[in-house]
Amino acid sequence: MKSLRFVSAEALVSNPQVARKSLRNVAHNLYPLLFKASYLLDQGEVIHDLLENWPLTEFNLGSLLGQTADHPGDIRSRACRTCLEACLRGLRDYVLNDSSVYSKRLRVVDLTGIKDVEVQLCKCKKSLGRWGRTRLLATLCLELLGEVQKQQPGSSGSGVGIDVLVNLFVTDGNYEAVAQALKMRRASPLKLRCVTFRADSLDRAKLFSVLRLAEPESLQKLEVVHNVRLQMEHLEGLLSHVGFSQLVSLTLPARTFDVHRLTAEEELVLASIGEKLSQMTHLTELSLAFSTLTGKLRKLLSPLRTPLRALELANCSLSYADMAFLANGLHSFHLEVLDLSGHSVVALYPSTFFKLLNQASQTLRVLSLEECSIEDSHVNRMIMGLIPCRKLQEFKFLGNPLTSRALKCLFRAFTELPKLKSIEFPVPKDCYPDGTSYPLDDSSLPNFDHQKYEEIARELQAILLQANRDDIKASTPLYGSYDPDIHETSNELGSFLLQSLKNALESFSTALQKME
Ligand SMILES: [Zn+2]
Repeated sequence: MKSLRFVSAEALVSNPQVARKSLRNVAHNLYPLLFKASYLLDQGEVIHDLLENWPLTEFNLGSLLGQTADHPGDIRSRACRTCLEACLRGLRDYVLNDSSVYSKRLRVVDLTGIKDVEVQLCKCKKSLGRWGRTRLLATLCLELLGEVQKQQPGSSGSGVGIDVLVNLFVTDGNYEAVAQALKMRRASPLKLRCVTFRADSLDRAKLFSVLRLAEPESLQKLEVVHNVRLQMEHLEGLLSHVGFSQLVSLTLPARTFDVHRLTAEEELVLASIGEKLSQMTHLTELSLAFSTLTGKLRKLLSPLRTPLRALELANCSLSYADMAFLANGLHSFHLEVLDLSGHSVVALYPSTFFKLLNQASQTLRVLSLEECSIEDSHVNRMIMGLIPCRKLQEFKFLGNPLTSRALKCLFRAFTELPKLKSIEFPVPKDCYPDGTSYPLDDSSLPNFDHQKYEEIARELQAILLQANRDDIKASTPLYGSYDPDIHETSNELGSFLLQSLKNALESFSTALQKME
């Protein structure tokens, strides 16, 4: 329940003119309360003024918007554009403002607590995602630097030094601003401190250069994803020159590794990468999806001295030897997140796979087995494997050729998993025309009997309801779950892909011309 204080705060900020005038008379310990109330009501002007006059040493967005004594609601998943822009512009004006009510004590601004989700529940319904926040913040840092350099020594902006903790998301579209803002950090009143870093649609040289500027030694999470051409030897070069000693989580782009027919030299490169990974003593999350790792998992992961808690190996062409390494290795007893999508683990390596599942059963929270050729004949074994996973919260198994009958058996078993919250299940095989082959291609994927699917989905839902498990959300996101980062940069992602295609076609036609 909201406290009376919170209700009063809401009443005050719902009239922005009055609220902005009253700020001068408000005790500094009420600022957090007024901030959350303003954020909840999309009151951008009040938010701006609160930030401009922020009287405390710290501004931590995550704790301000999370559960508080006065308001139990957690609104960290509101990446409201109005509110976030107002925060950042307010922060700029904090530095520039000479007539602030309170003396300037702010030292740390932590913007990392915001969560990006699909639906914005705020009034403006518009979000400012991680990429947009990165661009705006970098631009403001540069603007501010220009302003401060124009000022006389001793005036408002000079002498202010605020660490701004951020999750950076850099693409070619915001690279220049981010690189400049990081380069000028020493002189700037707002000092960007990168906690996590995501790179997408970025030239490799730019990636390496911006990473070096982003204080990689204190980086906790690095995600290098789409449209970055990073291969094994480049990765080895990067890890040799840049230390990521605090890194907890690493995601590498598709095709970083391709271990088909490795030369002796490439074998050494692979071993060296394993060695470099082992020096990251905090590393517990590794995502290598869409790399070809056949038979080399041991070489890459056995040097690690700390167990992994999250391991994503979707579509890595794993062999029996790789599965055996996983089932017998250090990591299996600690895995909380495991993605083996794109491997026929149940059909090809049942004993090693179920051994792995059993060992991870005490810790596993998220399991993805999409397009794993799991058929009706595997269902009993699957159920026996899943039942001991008492901590399982999410299970994704889209794209498997399972009939509605098998799905019903699975759903009955799901009701016995006490922590389960989310299931992504495939369109039943019996909804597709006879003879449809798996894995489904893009053209056959949507080509199913939708009415029949709806009926079966209702029956599956009824199984959950009968067992009082309406807390489990079951869905079939045909084209994958919502990804806020991809959603935000999809235009750039698309044009980057088109450009790459155009370049490839051009070099192809040049090559043809040369042959003529
Ligand atoms: Zn809004």
